[in-house]
Amino acid sequence: MLIYGWQRQLHTLATLTAYCGTCRCSGPHGLRKFVTKFSLFFIPLFAVSNEHYLECPVCGVRSTVPPRDIPNLVAQASIQPSPGEMIRTLPRTAEPAWPDLP
Ligand SMILES: [Zn+2]
Repeated sequence: MLIYGWQRQLHTLATLTAYCGTCRCSGPHGLRKFVTKFSLFFIPLFAVSNEHYLECPVCGVRSTVPPRDIPNLVAQASIQPSPGEMIRTLPRTAEPAWPDLP
């Protein structure tokens, strides 16, 4: 008998100060990585999906983050942005509106 399935893991990569486009709250948003791994006999073998998103602590809305922006966002986590430089999330659009990151 073959026992297989999927194991899901949630990792918090950083905490960023951002502005939520849904509840208009500005504050610390968790940059999270959600990984789904294929497991065989309860042993996780390989990732079948990776999803990165910013999560609003107030309303819980998740904004998808493109993988290419993850290193820059993690580097920004230690910097306190001014209100004009704050990341703004727009979760209701197909593509999140991110400022051009260096
Ligand atoms: Zn919100």
